[in-house]
Amino acid sequence: MAAMSSGSTDRSAQLAERASRVIPGGVNSPVRAFGSVGGTPRFLVSGRGPYVTDADGTEYVDLVASWGPALLGHAHPAVVEAVQAAAARGLGFGASVPEEAELAEEIIARVPEVERLRLVSTGTEATMTAIRLARGATGGPLVVKFAGHYHGHSDGLLAEAGSGLATLAMPGSAGVTAETAAQTLVLPYNDRAALAAAFAEHGDRIAAVIAEAAAANMGVLPPEPGFTDFMIGLAHRHGALVILDEVLTGFRAGPSGYWGIEQARVAAGLAPDLFTFGKVVGGGLPLAALGGRAEIMDLLAPLGPVYQAGTLSGNPLAVAAGLTTLRHADVPAYAALGRAADAISGEVAAALSAAGVPHRVQRAGSLFSVLFGEFPEAPLDYAAVQRQQTQRHRAFFHAMLDAGVNLPPSAFEAWFVTAAHDDAALSRVIEALPAAAQAAAEA
Ligand code: PMP
Repeated sequence: MAAMSSGSTDRSAQLAERASRVIPGGVNSPVRAFGSVGGTPRFLVSGRGPYVTDADGTEYVDLVASWGPALLGHAHPAVVEAVQAAAARGLGFGASVPEEAELAEEIIARVPEVERLRLVSTGTEATMTAIRLARGATGGPLVVKFAGHYHGHSDGLLAEAGSGLATLAMPGSAGVTAETAAQTLVLPYNDRAALAAAFAEHGDRIAAVIAEAAAANMGVLPPEPGFTDFMIGLAHRHGALVILDEVLTGFRAGPSGYWGIEQARVAAGLAPDLFTFGKVVGGGLPLAALGGRAEIMDLLAPLGPVYQAGTLSGNPLAVAAGLTTLRHADVPAYAALGRAADAISGEVAAALSAAGVPHRVQRAGSLFSVLFGEFPEAPLDYAAVQRQQTQRHRAFFHAMLDAGVNLPPSAFEAWFVTAAHDDAALSRVIEALPAAAQAAAEA
């Protein structure tokens, strides 16, 4: 397979210029603007398996995978076929379609703590609704979140959030009222004493603790053994709910999400009350979900008093993409994903070590990220990962991009492999590494 590269970025630059005249910053989601790495964001026109092709005709090995959804690789034939078949039947009706329950059943089969599931269109909606539901169920106004965790862009969840806010070093967002911000208590991750103190002070007013199942929006940073246990036990003793956000980790970190991995370490009987899913469950189309125990989920309208709705919720094309993706996410697919994660993270670490670049590979199931800088011990929270040497990431990122490997344009994002990252794709990554590691060493 020839790496087609014109080397030119002229067309992407023209498209970026045109977009910037009609779209703020030229992008519909901030990290795409290459704000922290500089240079010309590539406009992508197609993808297939582990590869994407930009508007200038350059093909890249893709380690972004649509920021997670493309678990099976881009344009997986079965997924495309299912979406085409659904489209031919109509793009959406605003009425229930049979496959919605099939998708719910598929997810419930993987995460038995989920007894009921509601489909929404984005991860932001899923977490926003989960919080409304927690407040409706408990009557408490306050929500605890952890610094560096990202749960989408609803007002109450932007404080000290990861993802694009970490990339752009923004502590929060303008436009969020002080009253709303005051309802979110932001604590350091993995800090049991801080969590205990928050509950000691505000316990009767806390509706929920929301946490990524394994933090993956400040680099990958799994919970310390015992932390999830502690969090669930403490919340439940105070009548608060636990919302485990698996939008990123769900059905990617492992077949049952990161909870499927963590569960074995958690005391029997302790489980989150609500889960949020996104990305993989929509197979690349706009679909996300929240789920949990029936007694809580049934508080949603039309059964209960907590309102939530969506014109496009359960859209048949999105459901077809998600259902087909999950049905093909079988044992061999997860084995391929794990092999690709092992191989790429291992080769990156070896190349960086050979070039003398201080770094640390962080891992949670099939998810990994690379921290640039001195991290003799595993970082436990946002403050620790903010010590990254982002200039080394920037140099590494651009050298990889120039050599035909598309990495997340941020030092604070997970790297996403797919089950389609085969030996040919891996060898292209490996070829690009020595020069990129050298660039990082000199940065
Ligand atoms: N939660 C987590 C853990 C996420 O990673 C994301 C998105 N990266 C969201 C919520 C928000 O999802 P969306 O971008 O679909 O609104």
